[in-house]
Amino acid sequence: MKKKPQPNYATVKTKLKEMKRALLARLGHTKGTEGFSSDSGPGDYLDEASRTQNIELNYVLNDRDRQELRSIEGALERIEAGSYGECEDCGGPIEPRRLEILPFAVLCVACQEEREVQQRRS
Ligand SMILES: [Zn+2]
Repeated sequence: MKKKPQPNYATVKTKLKEMKRALLARLGHTKGTEGFSSDSGPGDYLDEASRTQNIELNYVLNDRDRQELRSIEGALERIEAGSYGECEDCGGPIEPRRLEILPFAVLCVACQEEREVQQRRS
């Protein structure tokens, strides 16, 4: 107990892994992707149409979800590195309440707002 007080990593980790799993499932990157192999099942063209739609939907989701996935993985890495909960910009602690809602947040509220303002300006 010589270290500074830290958030409950076990809980955060569980939460992050849960989010990651849900995200991967949504992206269709789960282990059981047998159904995705080409030429499976009867050549129903309606089925074909809905499959194309699904692929398009995946493309829409991809960018955002991939970014989220990267954030989740980054958070897991930071837990391992012991830098979890530190603001990327100012190095200060990220508000625990914020981490509760957004476990993979890399910025404290002030820096996040600052960045959003800058993004809006550019
Ligand atoms: Zn900050």
